[in-house]
Amino acid sequence: MGEKIHFLLTLQQYEQRLATIDLKEYAARLLCLQKSLQDLTEHLDQVHHDLLCEQQYIRTSEQELFRLEENLRQCLGQQASSKKAEAFQALGAKITHIREQIASCEENILQHLEIQEDKQKAFAGLAKETEDKKRKLQEEIAEQQKVFAECEQNILSLQEKIKTFRENIVDRELLQRYDHVKSKNIHFPWLTSVADHRCQGCHIRLSPEQDDFFRQNPEVQDYCEQCGRLLYVPASTMEDEEADEC
Ligand SMILES: [Zn+2]
Repeated sequence: MGEKIHFLLTLQQYEQRLATIDLKEYAARLLCLQKSLQDLTEHLDQVHHDLLCEQQYIRTSEQELFRLEENLRQCLGQQASSKKAEAFQALGAKITHIREQIASCEENILQHLEIQEDKQKAFAGLAKETEDKKRKLQEEIAEQQKVFAECEQNILSLQEKIKTFRENIVDRELLQRYDHVKSKNIHFPWLTSVADHRCQGCHIRLSPEQDDFFRQNPEVQDYCEQCGRLLYVPASTMEDEEADEC
């Protein structure tokens, strides 16, 4: 097999390798991990916000209780100094009403203190759980970022190799014929050998005419009549056939 074919086969290997690296897949995986991390953080924030709302509600209720107690004290004071029976009675009714409000307010606060305690526990549990999950995810993200960077580096290095290889190919016509096959969206390999009278790309037997052509011109490359791939006759086949003929 000629050196120029060997050179082109190496180029083909590099180009095939470059075509199989799917950077998008790595990027998608990375994005998915980052989204999971964001979701975890958002969920914890939501639970925390819920807890803060509960605490705020209790504070507001306590202020209301304080206001009611203040009101009660005033009314009791007014009642104590009230001279008229009518006013005394009216204040008595008001005091009873305020006391009812106070009792209901206290009960409400007690209920919400219990709810707050439950929410506090749930938040603490979730915070710990989230912390562990976040740590694992961050490790995975770092790992994935490394893989992604390596992949990018790999692509760059392959592109560089391919560029150099292409520049150094002397037989420009052969390269053009190889590129012609590639441009036709034919699957890898674009350059393939003839073995046992068959194209090693599509594995179909060559026509007798093409078979004859290769026997007479083993150094020449030609397109496969079936699949369009560029065919070459490997040196070993030439030697075998010469040996057969002897
Ligand atoms: Zn073929």
